[in-house]
Amino acid sequence: MPVVIIGAGACGLVAALAAHDAGAEVIVLERDSTAGGSTVMSGAMIPAPGSRWQKEAGIEDAPAGLVQDMIAATDGEVDITMATAVAEAAAPCLEWLADQHQIPLAAIDNWKGHGQSKARMVSVPSRTGEELHGALSAAAERVAIDVMTDALTTAIFHHGTGRVTGVRVERPDGSTDEFGCQSLILASGGFGGNPDMVAGNITGFVDAPYFGHEGNAGDGITWGEGLGAALRHMGAYQAHGGLATPHNIAITQDPMLTGGIQVNQDGERFMNEVEEVSGQAQIVLAQPGGTAWSIYGQAQFEAGMKVTRFREAEDAGAVRHAKDMEQLAALTGLPLGKLSETIAATIKSGEGDAADPFGRDFSLCPNLEAPFCAIRVTGAIYQTQGGLVVDGNARVLKKDDSPLPNLFAGGGAACGLSGAGGTGYLPGNGLLMAVVLGRLAGISAAEISRG
Ligand SMILES: Cc1cc2nc3c(=O)[nH]c(=O)nc-3n(C[C@H](O)[C@H](O)[C@H](O)COP(=O)(O)OP(=O)(O)OC[C@H]3O[C@@H](n4cnc5c(N)ncnc54)[C@H](O)[C@@H]3O)c2cc1C
Repeated sequence: MPVVIIGAGACGLVAALAAHDAGAEVIVLERDSTAGGSTVMSGAMIPAPGSRWQKEAGIEDAPAGLVQDMIAATDGEVDITMATAVAEAAAPCLEWLADQHQIPLAAIDNWKGHGQSKARMVSVPSRTGEELHGALSAAAERVAIDVMTDALTTAIFHHGTGRVTGVRVERPDGSTDEFGCQSLILASGGFGGNPDMVAGNITGFVDAPYFGHEGNAGDGITWGEGLGAALRHMGAYQAHGGLATPHNIAITQDPMLTGGIQVNQDGERFMNEVEEVSGQAQIVLAQPGGTAWSIYGQAQFEAGMKVTRFREAEDAGAVRHAKDMEQLAALTGLPLGKLSETIAATIKSGEGDAADPFGRDFSLCPNLEAPFCAIRVTGAIYQTQGGLVVDGNARVLKKDDSPLPNLFAGGGAACGLSGAGGTGYLPGNGLLMAVVLGRLAGISAAEISRG
């Protein structure tokens, strides 16, 4: 009997490739007509400490460095055993995807910040989830993995022991199919698409808009819990304060890391824009009107234009261009006097003439200089980070820490590495948990299926 995988995002597809490589028969069940999940919406950046790409670039790094960054970002709330297992498996996993399955992964030059202390990000050339997911789908197709779309899993069958025996799938025409399985991998994402579950768990960020895959309704988490699995950090999430509004395009952090700033409707800065990525969302939403303007000069604009998502924002008209400060104030509606003051203070701080009130170091950034551009942004939750507790082999654990016999989870369905709240997320943690746990789950599930 096969390994059944619920969900065809990054986690499900990587799990399928790993299980296939380990000799198992695999079926992937995906609710949507076109698979993609939150993975296609992503910026496809994944940290790989100690990877061969870092070595080629002469960057010294090791998994322990990423773990240290996670400990710092979460104030020690991260599960260090899991963080270590995932960090150690990251580079081998991404190198396997590149070598064995032709996923066009390579290092992103010099990308660090928001708590990632080393340039350790790997991605596909366009840095889009569409390309990453497309490459994973093509790899699955090459080895003839059965990815069944329009297959909403509605129930899982199990013995009293917690051993899963199969699943029921509902088709868009209302018909149902049932599949037996030797082992089951829950790769069905988080619960951001389930407003009741969000309201019941994410109490610190009520009414936050959700900008992730709507089909991620927490099904896997709910089934796992029904089998006695432990849940952890259900109040945790990753949000972002750089969602272009009303265009709904996630603006890459590159131009911000290059010296961009955010101001509110009064033309004033209100935070260190590069300190911590997720907590920014609440701060932006707390500004008048729940929005802010991301302001860039020419150098920052050029940094942005190297990234596909930013070019998409430019093409969509989300990036407004101004030849000078007067025009910038006019097109944003910001008060000219205050805006000029804010930008002048930022330049002074970069030149070492004044301390930044938010403790940001602008000294390595090019000055904010005309021509300017601006994007109106708001805050949103991109992904939930709480979920099923798993071990270093992606086995779902019960409340007494013993594993369920044949149930595995990864990606958004599993508890993340972001601590208990909304400010512990390190860039890349989402896909890290999807691809690395996906691979570990695939290998472990195949072992059971082979007997
Ligand atoms: C705008 C944005 C940018 C991001 N950028 C990054 C980034 O650069 N780096 C990073 O690490 N993370 C990023 N993330 C987060 C990242 O996208 C997720 O962490 C990752 O995609 C999770 O992968 P997954 O496979 O667990 O879930 P998904 O990709 O969401 O896949 C889950 C799949 O399960 C399916 N499914 C759900 N329930 C069922 C069911 N009952 N039956 C059948 N199928 C079901 C869904 O339809 C979906 O296709 C970003 C997220 C967003 C929204």
